[in-house]
Amino acid sequence: MIQDILQQLHIGNVNRGVSTGINWLDAKGAVIDASSPVDGQHIATVKTASREDYDTVIATAQAAFREWRLWPAPRRGEVVRQIGEALRQNKEALGKLVSYEMGKSLQEGYGEVQEMIDICDFAVGLSRQLHGLTMHSERPGHRMYEQWHPLGITGIISAFNFPVAVWSWNAMLAWICGDVCVWKPSEKTPLSAIACQHIVQDVLKANKVPEGVCCLVTGGRDTGEWIAADTRVPLVSATGSTRMGKAVGSVVGARLGRSLLELGGNNAIIITADADLNMSLIGCVFGAVGTAGQRCTSTRRLIIHESVYETFTKKLAKAYQQLRIGNPLDEHNHVGPLIDKDAVNLYLDSIEKVKAQGGSFLVEGGVLSGDAYSSGCYVKPCIAAVENAYPIVQHETFAPILYVMKYSRIEEAIAMQNNVPQGLSSAIMTLNLREAELFLSQAGSDCGIANVNIGTSGAEIGGAFGGEKETGGGRESGSDAWRAYMRRQTNTINYSTHLPLAQGIKFDL
Ligand code: NAD
Repeated sequence: MIQDILQQLHIGNVNRGVSTGINWLDAKGAVIDASSPVDGQHIATVKTASREDYDTVIATAQAAFREWRLWPAPRRGEVVRQIGEALRQNKEALGKLVSYEMGKSLQEGYGEVQEMIDICDFAVGLSRQLHGLTMHSERPGHRMYEQWHPLGITGIISAFNFPVAVWSWNAMLAWICGDVCVWKPSEKTPLSAIACQHIVQDVLKANKVPEGVCCLVTGGRDTGEWIAADTRVPLVSATGSTRMGKAVGSVVGARLGRSLLELGGNNAIIITADADLNMSLIGCVFGAVGTAGQRCTSTRRLIIHESVYETFTKKLAKAYQQLRIGNPLDEHNHVGPLIDKDAVNLYLDSIEKVKAQGGSFLVEGGVLSGDAYSSGCYVKPCIAAVENAYPIVQHETFAPILYVMKYSRIEEAIAMQNNVPQGLSSAIMTLNLREAELFLSQAGSDCGIANVNIGTSGAEIGGAFGGEKETGGGRESGSDAWRAYMRRQTNTINYSTHLPLAQGIKFDL
């Protein structure tokens, strides 16, 4: 089955991983061996970008920008509309490849491609709505307004856990804004990126889009570092760990470039005394074990009211016993593998730290073995009773380890929820209006996303997505996130016969 999909998506045994949109470069960088965490099989090799290849791509993108920025935004939107159609046609194949290369469930693989289709639709509409404000001038016979212009090259550095959607959140908006994109996908999931490039290629050709508008540079951390340091790249959108974001943010900041950072989360759900516990259970279990705990929005902490703590943790433990762990391409399974053995080691290390710091496990973890788990990347989702202040609880472990803790007053629960370095997603489960509104108020959650009676995991593309504190402060996708891809210009036009100065200043000659 996988061979058919690879063929459909133009993935061969050896793949060129550098493209300017229309053409593929004979890349001279290191070779990546792409393998699957599902069965440990080698899938294909990828030739990545050398520094020289990278410079060729950037020069091509710079030239493309000079032409692309002149295309009317709705015409650029029409190209994005056709990309959405191409993604619809390839949804099944691309969703399966994402699932096989990254290890998320097939439904989530399809869901990720659906997110790409949704952002295309959103961007098409937006291409007719890029707007600025008008202001009243203090001077007679003057008009003042602002307009938004494209920036140039948007560098996109993406993480392994959303191998394709994060690129599309950035690229579709950047393109309708008139920017060109250079994408460096995760070195752990290069094939999904190459497949996207093939899908888009025909649309670019058919519309005579300038070569260089949609570029791909596969590579490792070095390639990301080239983008961060490159003054030819005015905007760097980087998704990944807080460690990576601090490095990228400081390099881009030192050259006074712009960065859009989407980093780690440490997301909590508050389960109040007035929560609908059955509904809460679904949100908590899906949030904690979905994508094997490898979402930036995965639920990592449950802050549970003392009056329902026993009942709810028992329900949770029972639900965990029913989880089916196995091949994510089999739709009967709930939990697939971690991305690689390094991730398994980090999971095991965190379990040891939980124990050393005083935590106790309500549901034990462990690595699964046997034929069905031959890749060595399948682990058991586990639940530990902890204190919020433990160093390990303050840290994002990218694995299905769920921490539970008790509270007695809602203010205390909100303080615990906020008392971590990260600020991505948060939720409260309650039927009590006062508690819900307090959670959403300025004295409530300090996260970029705050939900009521919905878990922390996943988001619709219509809202701005991102988080505060060590999550980086960036916003992508919906609402007015498009502004990050443009520069604002204030224009004042004098249509009078005088030249009055602002603030009443006189300058007589
Ligand atoms: P990672 O930080 O290891 O790598 C992410 C990307 O950054 C990769 O492409 C990598 O090559 C590149 N990179 C690494 N170091 C770099 C450097 N110094 N300079 C430039 N580029 C560099 O992250 P990962 O393991 O792929 O992904 C998991 C992390 O991503 C988690 O922390 C997760 O929370 C986060 N994430 C956040 C969001 C969000 O929207 N907030 C979304 C998805 C993932």
